[in-house]
Amino acid sequence: MPHTRAQLQQPTTPPADHRTPKNIVIVGGGIVGVCTAYFLAISPHRPPGSTITIVEGTGIASAASGFSGGFLARDWHSPATASLSAMSFDLHRKLAEQFGGPKNWGYRTVDTLSVKIDHEAGPSTKRTPVPWLPRGSVQTTSTLGTHATTAQVHPRLLTNFLTDRFLREPGCMLVLGTARALALENHAPSTLMVTLKEGGEKILDTDTIVLTNGPWLGKLATEILPSSAARRLAVDGQMAHSLVIRTREPTTPHVLFVDLCLEDGAVSEPEVYPRPDGTTLVCGASCDDPLPPTAADVHPNPKSLERLRQQAAGITPVLTARGGAFTEAETGCFLPIPDRGRPIIGKVLDGVFVGGGLSCWGITQGPGTGLVLSELILEGRARTADISKLAP
Ligand SMILES: Cc1cc2nc3c(=O)[nH]c(=O)nc-3n(C[C@H](O)[C@H](O)[C@H](O)COP(=O)(O)OP(=O)(O)OC[C@H]3O[C@@H](n4cnc5c(N)ncnc54)[C@H](O)[C@@H]3O)c2cc1C
Repeated sequence: MPHTRAQLQQPTTPPADHRTPKNIVIVGGGIVGVCTAYFLAISPHRPPGSTITIVEGTGIASAASGFSGGFLARDWHSPATASLSAMSFDLHRKLAEQFGGPKNWGYRTVDTLSVKIDHEAGPSTKRTPVPWLPRGSVQTTSTLGTHATTAQVHPRLLTNFLTDRFLREPGCMLVLGTARALALENHAPSTLMVTLKEGGEKILDTDTIVLTNGPWLGKLATEILPSSAARRLAVDGQMAHSLVIRTREPTTPHVLFVDLCLEDGAVSEPEVYPRPDGTTLVCGASCDDPLPPTAADVHPNPKSLERLRQQAAGITPVLTARGGAFTEAETGCFLPIPDRGRPIIGKVLDGVFVGGGLSCWGITQGPGTGLVLSELILEGRARTADISKLAP
């Protein structure tokens, strides 16, 4: 595996301004924070005796990284993120091979299709591409990805698995609490004040802080960083919804991006992710609800959920109670949306790094983002992907 200690041990000369971190604190225990922590922890460049602490306000994978689709695409990305995405897609496969991903977090490759289902148009004579869609329901089908270029994971299981591996490494800790204030000394971090989930406060010594707190990045940056730095980290949230439906009918490893028109003329673009555990995640139905203070305060929008239920039923009866299905979860969560339209990954100030704004690709790009951040922090430069267009 390329990310094992031995194979990562390549000689590199750090840049002149590179500082050796001793106490690294990562704010946010979503997929980006956890992958950053994991790759820092196993790096052969990690200084002996150093500590790595994840500070997570609500719980590991308690936001989008716990509830999102988990779809992975290798080559669907803009030039700015193409290198990172391809590296991260391959890294997902290597992690899955190394740690039993198919069993432990539902990793598998998939075929990915775009299908048009139009209830206003009446029955279609076209072939139905998967057996769990009704015959005559699909107007057009095209291939978006194959088993070589698209895959899926269960993002909460993956994030929890890597947290467990991280916590087995020496000097690695999880603090359940909310980052509140950062003290800088000589323009570099010295302490982080955390309000603990169980009550009380804790002051963490830190010389290196990594902000990976998803859609809350912009808010936290304005609270704890100088305004000149915070301005470059403008990220907010956009809410979307998902249903996890256990189907009676078996599904197949086909992800569907659906161009849907219901009988009442309502159009939408839900996404359908059958999982190997017998559930199918249907997601979409975004809304303009504002980002609440914490992940614990996120509640799905009832109207959006109802729309998504209607969409799922409009795709196939296999996803309905009438078709023997049972809905196990209905959730809402926030995409981290960067103002500037592309992720923000890199060094912000001496000792302050960021991995944020991954929008709808955070599960695909999460492991790669964690790996390049670990390289930047410990070696002074990103070696495994070109992130030059993503600097804060
Ligand atoms: C419905 C939906 C479907 C999606 N489907 C896919 C998909 O199929 N494929 C894909 O690649 N991407 C998908 N995404 C996008 C992906 O889920 C996100 O980009 C990704 O999860 C973001 O991860 P993150 O670690 O940056 O942030 P999050 O997962 O949002 O985690 C941030 C964490 O920071 C914590 N936090 C916030 N502030 C503080 C603080 N001050 N102190 C301590 N902790 C704090 C929060 O509690 C939270 O746990 C989807 C997103 C949505 C909403």
